[in-house]
Amino acid sequence: MIRRNLLKGLAAFSLMGVAATGWGQKAAKGAVKVEELQKNWKMLLADGADVATTAEPLKLENTEWRKRLKPEAYDVLRREGTERAGTSPLDREKRPGVFVCAGCNLPLFTSAMKFDSGTGWPSFFTTIPGVFGTTTDRKLFMERTEYHCARCGGHHGHIFDDGPEPTGLRYCNNGVALRFIPKTGKA
Ligand SMILES: [Zn+2]
Repeated sequence: MIRRNLLKGLAAFSLMGVAATGWGQKAAKGAVKVEELQKNWKMLLADGADVATTAEPLKLENTEWRKRLKPEAYDVLRREGTERAGTSPLDREKRPGVFVCAGCNLPLFTSAMKFDSGTGWPSFFTTIPGVFGTTTDRKLFMERTEYHCARCGGHHGHIFDDGPEPTGLRYCNNGVALRFIPKTGKA
């Protein structure tokens, strides 16, 4: 009896081992995929699209930003406002393409990095590399990670750790802070 139990135990143990290896492989595959999405993001950029080609800082006076941006975009990008959930058509945008900063045209995300979080805000599990800076935001009586455009400093949203695999991250982005450029067809 003891031996049988031991064998059972061993069988269960090796099954767990197989399962753990399976997960490991899946996670590793996922990690590679994110790197590929980041490396190959230009494959989703429309030919001749008007985008910023470097993250070289763009610094403007507030009066100039007011002139350039729609009031809703100004409120989010320059004053760290938050749009009302469910108000951005980009939340439901599913076509292939690239999302750029509404302030400075820097490409930030691709459609392949987007997922439906059900929050009512466009959500992404990763970004084009090097396009955001972060700060710790202690407003609303909690600590959140704020992120902003590396080029114009415009506020975009907050990062949460309840996103999907493989990154587990959710970049919760205000739609008015983005402009979508479809790979083909009209914006
Ligand atoms: Zn920007």
